[in-house]
Amino acid sequence: MNEAAKRIADNVPRIRERIARAAESAGRPPESVTMVAVTKYVGADLVRLLAQTGCRHFGESRPQELWQKESELRDLSTMDPPIYWHLIGHLQRNKVVRTLPLVHRIHSVDSLRLIEAIEDSAAALEMQVTILLEVNISGDPSKHGWAPDALLREWETWRDHPHLTVSGLMAMAGAVGGRPQAAREFEQLRQLRDQLARNAPPRVSLTELSMGMSGDYDLAIAAGATLVRIGSALFE
Ligand SMILES: *Cc1c(COP(=O)(O)O)cnc(C)c1O
Repeated sequence: MNEAAKRIADNVPRIRERIARAAESAGRPPESVTMVAVTKYVGADLVRLLAQTGCRHFGESRPQELWQKESELRDLSTMDPPIYWHLIGHLQRNKVVRTLPLVHRIHSVDSLRLIEAIEDSAAALEMQVTILLEVNISGDPSKHGWAPDALLREWETWRDHPHLTVSGLMAMAGAVGGRPQAAREFEQLRQLRDQLARNAPPRVSLTELSMGMSGDYDLAIAAGATLVRIGSALFE
């Protein structure tokens, strides 16, 4: 086994264990948290190794990179159980059509214009698409996502999109304030989700919270994360 393979073989069970412990301390079953292995740092060969250790959910932040890896690993999408791709980074409208058929979830839907584009393409492709709404919970101007106030306002007039299922919210903790600040931001995202869920349009249930990365997934799970997006901790 080479070095990278050894690291993956060590890291995956350790991270799974930590996820399970965080879920249990929060009074939730370990299966209530899905680990999305973020593979933007590595090539298809290491994704294949991760799949061999039992990982089934993979995240990429660039659509082109997702297309590329999906095509190199098409055989894994047809195995039983299959692997699932998640887009976790910004999606430009001209890349929607090509991306939709390949992904299980889009975590990073950050505007009404993008929602309209996804709805139109999903209708044309005759498919149902599950999305999460990205919230800029830290207020960092360099980050994508709705400001919480803006999303609350949009929600008042939220229009049904028959080919979309809005399953929850996604956010990243800001760069400042360390773990204590990250914990507060995750709590804020959960509260925002609860508030939106109470006034949700029909067919919208917002059961998912995609939050937590390598340095803070335990905190995110404590605050209610159902999807954690873990990259560097898998490979270091
Ligand atoms: C890269 C990335 C991650 C993974 O970050 P790590 O700190 O390497 O675990 C998670 N979410 C998004 C949106 C990312 O771009």
